[in-house]
Amino acid sequence: MSKILTIKYPEEHSSPAAARLHRKQRLAAAFRLFSRFGFDEGVAGHITARDPERADHFWVNPFGMHFGQIRVSDLVLVNHQGDVVEGEREVNRAAFAIHSQVHAARPEAVAAAHAHSLYGKSWSTLGRLLDPLTQDACAFYGQHGLFDDYTGVVLETAEGERIAQALGPTHKAVILRNHGLLTVGETVEAAAWWFITMERSCQAQLLAEAAGKPIPIAPGMAALTQTQVGSPVAGWFSFQPLWDRIVREQPDLLD
Ligand SMILES: [Zn+2]
Repeated sequence: MSKILTIKYPEEHSSPAAARLHRKQRLAAAFRLFSRFGFDEGVAGHITARDPERADHFWVNPFGMHFGQIRVSDLVLVNHQGDVVEGEREVNRAAFAIHSQVHAARPEAVAAAHAHSLYGKSWSTLGRLLDPLTQDACAFYGQHGLFDDYTGVVLETAEGERIAQALGPTHKAVILRNHGLLTVGETVEAAAWWFITMERSCQAQLLAEAAGKPIPIAPGMAALTQTQVGSPVAGWFSFQPLWDRIVREQPDLLD
């Protein structure tokens, strides 16, 4: 059995302030990584982290700031009405419309990530779920939904609510047709990792289908593999080497 199943989360935080700082640091690191992977597209994209004390508030990137320059001190706190209650800058209205509804519908989801990454948005135009073509893609087997509609830039919470319904009560991701990917996690680390590996799973399936007729992993084995590579703790653990790398390379993200 996979060694990854023996991995456990670290100790609980000693205070809400410590938990908040931890989440904000991982959130800033996730933006730097999204930039490193080329997931930025102008001002599009947002990753959110629920505040540990005010459960209907979340931390998010300031609108119009490049992922690659975001520091902990740049993050803004948004309340359930979309008002910025901490921070100097504006929030993207689409970020509020989508993420507020996802966080409301999924109380266990600490974080949600969305960006207009190239392979995710390319795959999204096909209106299909990902197939279990690789071990990595099995993380999403039976664990992602399809928002099979496109109605313009999401500016209303009613549309965010429809996206949250497509995500469903247990999935870790949803493909937004003609738009891109959205992932959630019970940690910032997991939500960011699911986005990174889902983007690459989209790339892998596009490459494989362009080259021939790929052979999927059989359903029973795909379901087993999902429990091995697709658990919340596996998502958290997979992020750790990326965290170590980006903090060493770009320590100013912690400012
Ligand atoms: Zn978008």
